[in-house]
Amino acid sequence: MRIFIVHAHPEEQSFNGAMTRTAQAALAAAGHEVVISDLYRMGFNPVSGRHNFITVHNRDYFRQQAEESFAALNDGFAPEIQAEQDKLFWCDVLILQFPLWWFGLPAILKGWVDRVFAAGGRIYGGGKWYDQGVFAGKRAMCSLTIGGAPPIYSEHGLNGSIASILYPINHGMLYFTGFDVVEPFLVHAPVRLSVEQRAVELARYRERITGLSTAPIIAYPKLAEHDEHYVLNASAKRR
Ligand SMILES: Cc1cc2nc3c(=O)[nH]c(=O)nc-3n(C[C@H](O)[C@H](O)[C@H](O)COP(=O)(O)OP(=O)(O)OC[C@H]3O[C@@H](n4cnc5c(N)ncnc54)[C@H](O)[C@@H]3O)c2cc1C
Repeated sequence: MRIFIVHAHPEEQSFNGAMTRTAQAALAAAGHEVVISDLYRMGFNPVSGRHNFITVHNRDYFRQQAEESFAALNDGFAPEIQAEQDKLFWCDVLILQFPLWWFGLPAILKGWVDRVFAAGGRIYGGGKWYDQGVFAGKRAMCSLTIGGAPPIYSEHGLNGSIASILYPINHGMLYFTGFDVVEPFLVHAPVRLSVEQRAVELARYRERITGLSTAPIIAYPKLAEHDEHYVLNASAKRR
């Protein structure tokens, strides 16, 4: 398998760093190919704009999706965007590795998605979305650390369920572009764990990583289960 890890943590010695190194070693030992985009070390610029492109569709009014569509037809993405898109097309499995920041992705990773997941049928658009998406047949997984302990992220916990917090990422970014979305891998409150407990978490991650091809995926409804207004149809609702 070919695995692409997008790593978003500013500190190399962090627990997130340990998780990515654990994944890299376990996958290499099992004979898989691994490519890592370590966004902080790359100095990846998360701010989207005209510099995403080497082509110009409309000089007078910048509409990102229109420029993306034009660039998709004219080989017009800036080299750092093209390089990330190439890694996405290359991989069988995408892993997003990050600490939960403000109930979401760290800005550097959100900006990577903003800039790299381009319209015009390159990454989405032109009828290519959800199970008909560009990345249909590939898998993707969020692997994250969370400051709070599990109860506060349970269904009735103060912070709300982790499934609802991750929905914009799992559904809105990964499933939207066609990936089968593997259940996220979560490590709660690594700062408060003992050294031994952290070792257990890394062993648990090693196990998940080596079983990525069969790990359970989130059962999102298919496009065909919706009516002409993209509302779930009656038979799908009954399921
Ligand atoms: C801007 C911001 C917003 C945040 N928003 C939220 C939020 O919305 N919700 C929330 O719950 N939390 C939030 N947090 C907290 C954040 O999610 C946690 O701080 C983060 O997930 C912890 O992961 P880490 O990799 O940074 O841990 P670290 O602090 O880097 O690591 C934890 C411990 O593991 C140790 N360690 C490193 N490598 C190893 C190893 N190989 N073996 C054993 N131990 C090791 C480290 O030395 C450290 O003691 C936020 C934090 C910030 C800065």
